[in-house]
Amino acid sequence: MADDASDLPASAGYLTPERIMMRDLARRFTAEEVAPAARRLDPIKGDMPRELIERMGELGFFGILIPEEYGGLGLGAFEYCLVAEELARGWMSVASIIARGNSFYRSVPGEGEERRRKIEAMAKGQYLGAAALSEPGTGSDLSGVTCRARREGDEWVITGNKYWCTFADGADYISVLCRIDDPDAPSGRAGTTSVSVEKPKGELPAGCTGNPIPKIGYFGWKTWELHFDGVRAPVRQGPSGNTEQGGRAHQAVAFGLGLARAHTAARSIGLAQAALEDSIAYAKERIQFGQPISDFQAIRFKIATMATEIEAARQLMYYVCSEIDAGRAGRIETSMVKYFASEMAERVTSEALQIHGGAGYTTLHSIERYWRDARLTKIFEGTSEIQQRIIADTLLGKPTIRGSN
Ligand SMILES: Cc1cc2nc3c(=O)[nH]c(=O)nc-3n(C[C@H](O)[C@H](O)[C@H](O)COP(=O)(O)OP(=O)(O)OC[C@H]3O[C@@H](n4cnc5c(N)ncnc54)[C@H](O)[C@@H]3O)c2cc1C
Repeated sequence: MADDASDLPASAGYLTPERIMMRDLARRFTAEEVAPAARRLDPIKGDMPRELIERMGELGFFGILIPEEYGGLGLGAFEYCLVAEELARGWMSVASIIARGNSFYRSVPGEGEERRRKIEAMAKGQYLGAAALSEPGTGSDLSGVTCRARREGDEWVITGNKYWCTFADGADYISVLCRIDDPDAPSGRAGTTSVSVEKPKGELPAGCTGNPIPKIGYFGWKTWELHFDGVRAPVRQGPSGNTEQGGRAHQAVAFGLGLARAHTAARSIGLAQAALEDSIAYAKERIQFGQPISDFQAIRFKIATMATEIEAARQLMYYVCSEIDAGRAGRIETSMVKYFASEMAERVTSEALQIHGGAGYTTLHSIERYWRDARLTKIFEGTSEIQQRIIADTLLGKPTIRGSN
C-alpha cells in the first residue's frame, strides 16, 4: 500500500525532489525526536522542551515562510504545510508551534535594525509570538472584541480580558486584538487594532495576570485566560502590524486565517496518517478467533476507507497550498480544505480507536492522543460551522432573512 502521497502518481506534479527531501527530513526528525517527546510528556501534560524548539530552529522549520533576507528559507505555503503534516504525526502542538514564527513575522514589533534582528531570531525559533484574539464573550465573531486599547501619547494602554491564548507564557510577544478606545467614534463603535506586547520569555507582560485553561488535549504548551489591566505597549507605525490598520484589524486577522486554515488541514492530515499507520500495525499483530484482525473484512474496509479519506484531504491540501503560493486561493478553497481535513481527522482517528478495541481507550497507545487532538481541529482557526457558512455564502450569497446566518 502507498503509505504516503509521494507513491501516488497524482502527487508527482507537486512533489519536487527538493520538497521530498524536506518532507523526509521532517519525517525523520518526527520519528526520532518529536514522537518520543510526545509519548513522554503528553501523559503528564508537560510542555515541549526548549531543546526541541531549538532543534526545529536549526532545521529552519520556523522560517519556511520568512524571506531569505531575514535568514528564512523564503519558501511557500506548500513547504510549510508539508513539514507541518509530518510534525503532526508526532505531536500536534509541535506542528502548531512552527506557526509562531512562519505566520507571525509580519507582526514582529519594532523598527529598522532592531526589528530585523528579531525576525532573524524568529527564523531560528528564538523569538516567537502568541495571539490573543478570542475573549470570554467573543470567539467565532471577532468583530465583537471588547478588550480596549486607549492611546496615551506614544503608547497603547490595554485593559480587558482575553481567553484561549496559547503559548502566552512561552512567547516573546503577544499580538492582542483590541477595540480602540475612542469616545468620539461615530455611532459609539470604534475600530480594532492589533497591538504587539513584548515580554520576557516564561512570563506574562507587566500588568497582565492569567491562568492556564484546563483543556482535554493539545498538550505540549499551555492555553491561557488573561486579564490585561493597563498593560502598556508603544504605538508603532510601519510594517510591524502594530498600527490601527484603518481600524479594521479584525478583518486583517480574518484574511490571515486563510494560511492558518491550510496549516490546520496539514495538522489534521498528519494526525490521521499517524492513526492509520498505528492501526495497520496493530491490526496485523492482534489475533482474535485464531487469526490477525487484519484478515476480517470489517477491519480491512475500515483501513481502506481511512486511507482514501486521508489521501483525498492531502490532495486537496496540495492543490490549495499551490493556489495560495500562486496568489490565487480564495476563502472558499481554504475553508473547504480546513473543513474537510478536520472532519476527516476526527472520523479517521475515531475509527483507529475502534480498530484498537479496548487498547485504544487506554493511555498506553498514542491513538487516544491523536483522537483528542483531532477533535480540536474542528474548533480552532474557525469552527467547522463557520467554514460551512463561508462556503455556503460564497455559493449562495448571504442569506436574505436577517438572523438566519
Ligand atoms: C485548545 C484551544 C486553543 C486555542 N488557541 C487560541 C489562541 O492561541 N488564540 C486565540 O485567540 N484563540 C484561540 N482559541 C480559540 C478558538 O479560536 C475559538 O475557540 C474558536 O474560534 C471558536 O470560538 P468559541 O470557542 O468562542 O465558540 P463560539 O463562537 O461561541 O461557537 C460555539 C458554537 O456555535 C457555533 N457558531 C458560532 N457562530 C455561528 C454561526 N454564525 N453559524 C453557525 N454556527 C455558529 C460554532 O461553530 C460552535 O459550534 C483556542 C481554542 C482552543 C479550544
